[in-house]
Amino acid sequence: MRKTTEILSVPFTVCTMEEAVEEVMGFFADGRQHIICTPNPEIVMEAQTDRQLMQILKAADLVVPDGIGVVWASKYTKHPVPERVAGFDLCQRILANLAKEGKSVYFFGGAPSVAATAAKRAAKMYPGLVICGTHNGYFDAKEEKEIIRQIKTLQPDLLLVGLGAPKQEKWIYENLRFTSVKVAIGVGGSFDVMAGNVKRAPKMFQKLGLEWFYRLITQPTRWRRMMRLPKFVLTVLKNKGK
Ligand code: UDP
Repeated sequence: MRKTTEILSVPFTVCTMEEAVEEVMGFFADGRQHIICTPNPEIVMEAQTDRQLMQILKAADLVVPDGIGVVWASKYTKHPVPERVAGFDLCQRILANLAKEGKSVYFFGGAPSVAATAAKRAAKMYPGLVICGTHNGYFDAKEEKEIIRQIKTLQPDLLLVGLGAPKQEKWIYENLRFTSVKVAIGVGGSFDVMAGNVKRAPKMFQKLGLEWFYRLITQPTRWRRMMRLPKFVLTVLKNKGK
């Protein structure tokens, strides 16, 4: 069990990317089901008013900071997190490791055909990876039942859910038990990036901790969500030392 540090009541696992990968690979072997969450400051703020989301973040087996703001905020706690562990990068590292072991993954989420394209590209990139199924993220109640039935039948080791946060976290929390999936991760818009439809910020932006800024200027529709960022900074500063 790794050390955690609380940021506005969300318990983040104190670990490097390398340690996170190691921890997750252990999850595939212990016979239990595991949920991994990768909150950024927007989600930490959302959890302040969304009780179910907070409950899920508290119950998750690994919670890593997908946002430089969380790394900054952790400096005001007793156990700062050592680095940003971006959900996208963590997911790629896990897929690469699963490929070596011939393990299987199901891609669930995104607009029609996005998950399928992302899966095709992942199969090429990680030879040995078994993609046992894909489904887009737009469904009604009847289709949802069918998706769960399919995941149950196909028995993937890993389930990637790209429905956007916090919908994906809630979906995983409510439905994982109906499957035999060992590890589930909410991956946000990662399928769009994997399919080649959306570009991640250039490495320079990532290194400078400015990926959020790149997303803001390339996807201006996100500005409303990003208004939570200054609120996050103010709330962290107000609560420091408490
Ligand atoms: N999405 C989906 N079903 C929905 C709503 C959204 O599959 O009902 C997908 C959407 O197509 C996109 C992803 O969820 O691929 C959300 O991407 P975003 O970058 O907004 O993720 P977030 O920043 O919320 O993690």
